Amino acid sequence: MSRPTASTSSVEGDPLRPTASAAKAREPMNVLIVGVGGQGVIMVSKALASLAQSKGYQVKQSEVHGMAKRGGTVFSHVRFGPQVWSPTIPKGEADILVALEWAEGLRWLPFLKAETGIFICDTKRIVPPFACLNRRPGAPLRYSRETPAEVKAHVAEGFAIDATRMAEELGNERAANVVLIGALSTALDFSAADWEQALAQFVPKKTIAVNLDAFRLGRRWIEEARTAVDDVEAPVARIPAPAAAPYSVRLEITPEWCKSCDICVKLCPERCLRLNQERIVELAQPEKCTGCRLCELLCPDFAIRVHLDAVANEVAAMPGAKA
Ligand code: SF4
Ligand code: SF4
Repeated sequence: MSRPTASTSSVEGDPLRPTASAAKAREPMNVLIVGVGGQGVIMVSKALASLAQSKGYQVKQSEVHGMAKRGGTVFSHVRFGPQVWSPTIPKGEADILVALEWAEGLRWLPFLKAETGIFICDTKRIVPPFACLNRRPGAPLRYSRETPAEVKAHVAEGFAIDATRMAEELGNERAANVVLIGALSTALDFSAADWEQALAQFVPKKTIAVNLDAFRLGRRWIEEARTAVDDVEAPVARIPAPAAAPYSVRLEITPEWCKSCDICVKLCPERCLRLNQERIVELAQPEKCTGCRLCELLCPDFAIRVHLDAVANEVAAMPGAKA
C-alpha cells in the first residue's frame, strides 16, 4: 500500500548536496481536517500538531472557525516535517483529508493529492436549514447525492465511516472525532501509545477512557476495512449515499438551559414547538418536524439539538479502495 508516512528516517541526507529523493523527504506532511462547528475539528488538529511537535518536527497549523457555534464550516491545516514554510496546504497537496461531515469532506476533495491522497470521512450528515426546502417530514434532503462508490473514483484510498454512530454506541457521540483520529493514526507512523498520550491532553479528564476506546475502535475499523477490501470475496460497501439514507428526526432538549424566550417557538417554520406549563420548550407535534435545525441554530442558549438519526446503518470501506 502506498501511503504517506512521517518516518523520522526519511529526513536523513546531506543538506549541501540535495538529491531529488532528499528534496522529497523534506516535503512536509499535509493533513487537512474539515467539518462543521461543534464537531471537534480543532481538537483533532491540535492533537496531531502537538504529537508531531513532540517528535521533533517543525509544525505549522492554521484554522478557520468563523461561525463555528452556529453550524458554520470549520477547517484546519496541519503541516509538519523537517522544515515547513507556509501554514496553509495548497490545493491538490493534502496527503490526508479527514472530514467529520460528509458534504464538507466532498467539498474539500480538490485539496487531496490525486495520486496518493487518503480520504477519511464520517458519513455524518449535518444538513443546513436551506436544504429543507421540501417541508414534508422525511422528504429527501437537498444534500450531496454522491455515493461512496462515486467518491472512490476521485481518491487513491478512501474510507467512509459511520464514526458518529460508533461513538454513540460507546456512550459519547462527541467522541466521533476521536474515532476519526484512530482512523487517521493508521496513515501516519506515530505509535498508538504516542497518540493515546497526546489525546489524553486534549480531551476532558472524565472522558479520557471513552475517548481512548473511540481511538482504538477507529484504528481497528480501518485495519479491518483494509483487510476486507483486499479480500475479493468480501461484500462491497453497503453504505447508501448519505443524502438518500433514510433518517428519523430527534430533538434533544436540555430543559435546564431553556430560558423560555419563545424564539424557537415563534420561528419554527412548521409551528411544532411550544412552551409547556413550566415555560420550557417541548416538541408538541413531532410528526410535523422536518429536522430543518432552525430551532437549534436560533436558540441563544443552545438548549436544542436536532439529530437526523440514520434508520439503517451499514458501514464499510468504500468499495474497491486501492490497497
Ligand atoms: S422543531 Fe426545529 S427542526 Fe423541527 S421543524 Fe421546527 S425548527 Fe425545524
Ligand atoms: S430558543 Fe432556546 S431558550 Fe428560547 S424557548 Fe427555545 S429552547 Fe428555550
